[in-house]
Amino acid sequence: MSSSRIEIKSGETIFSEGEEPTIAYLIEAGEIELSRQYEGHKRIIGVCGPGDLVGEMAVIDTLPRLATAVALIDCVLVAIDREQIQARIDAADPIVQAIVRKQLQRYRSVFASPRIRGDGQIPQRENGVVDEHSAIGKIRLESQLKDAIAQRRLEIVFQPILDIPADRICGFEALVRWPHQELGIISPAEFIKLAEETSLILPVGRFVFDEVCQALKALVARGAGQLPFFAINISAKQALEDGLIDEMQKMADLHQVPVNALKIEITESLAMDAIKLERLMTRCRALGIKVALDDFGTGFSNLSYLHQLHFDMVKIDKSFVAEMLSNPRCYAVVEAIANLVKAWDGELVAEGVENPEQIAALKQLGCRYAQGFLIGKPMDKASMLALSAPN
Ligand code: C2E
Ligand code: CA
Ligand code: CA
Repeated sequence: MSSSRIEIKSGETIFSEGEEPTIAYLIEAGEIELSRQYEGHKRIIGVCGPGDLVGEMAVIDTLPRLATAVALIDCVLVAIDREQIQARIDAADPIVQAIVRKQLQRYRSVFASPRIRGDGQIPQRENGVVDEHSAIGKIRLESQLKDAIAQRRLEIVFQPILDIPADRICGFEALVRWPHQELGIISPAEFIKLAEETSLILPVGRFVFDEVCQALKALVARGAGQLPFFAINISAKQALEDGLIDEMQKMADLHQVPVNALKIEITESLAMDAIKLERLMTRCRALGIKVALDDFGTGFSNLSYLHQLHFDMVKIDKSFVAEMLSNPRCYAVVEAIANLVKAWDGELVAEGVENPEQIAALKQLGCRYAQGFLIGKPMDKASMLALSAPN
């Protein structure tokens, strides 16, 4: 199993001056001495400890290592791939990219300068705009997420969705969880954003497809009668990947489950390119995969989006449902959206339904589906299977 966590014994060399770099290291525990050779003599240029990043310069500009790093005591390090750092730099504003590269050039020339040669001092870092602590924390979390994906330590929970007129559970939304060794269960609201900043969202998505197809396969094997549908959340970055639907189809074929039991949920975002999205939706329609517009009413919701793109379903955000019976303006928003979706032949899903009065009101408005703690909290696979096929 690959792991970014590395244990180094006291006295071991982590990398050497002049080497081709591929990895930077975050020190979790221990002490590392950085040194350089000057005119045949070793000069110590610094000692780094927990929370420090070493070897990052060479990973950013890909030039040979400037220093040798040796463990002074036993160390625990987190390896950070060049891609992890590169993806962030590539995503940055071109001006920021230029500043980073300029700054690195300057660092390198300072390292080679007689001042360092003479007193062995490492230049002080200036206080930048970036909060170095939180940036390093993020990189650490990202490395841990990468390991969790590779070792399949993410989990999927399933939240039931009620068909209101039929009064039965007809599907589930798959929600990803990350049980973290030190931090407990991390909600997707926290780590999906992190995964979206790099390409880690793609393997997270693949993991979700795989788990959902395995759950479907278990239902097919039980002969559960009419299969429930499974709604999968897709982030903007995944939606814009060309191979997304092929990948879903491949995964469904691999597990021998019908691809049209899958639905995808997309949240509006500025990153969405309407033309690409239309292409994605056309492919979904050909395979019978329904597409829902998630969290409608929040963020960048706009009506032109809704009428240009023919979503099969619209999920009205839980913030409106929560207040629809106490705030007439919220009720009016839910009513207006329900009418709009009906007129466009779509289906409405209400999220965050927590009491029976809300269900009654939604039924009156012609809302087809309801999801929320009243119907069921997100549950593990065994509970979902028991709910779908009680035998
Ligand atoms: P979402 O798609 O809007 O998912 C619904 C969220 O509302 C879930 O939070 C769910 O646990 C919560 N919820 C459901 N019913 C109720 C209720 O009655 N009351 C309240 N207060 N909350 C309720 P969760 O699981 O923390 O997910 C947060 C968000 O993370 C999701 O929002 C979705 O946007 C994203 N997400 C989750 N799984 C994935 C995934 O596999 N891929 C991607 N790209 N995003 C995901
Ligand atoms: Ca969703
Ligand atoms: Ca939602």
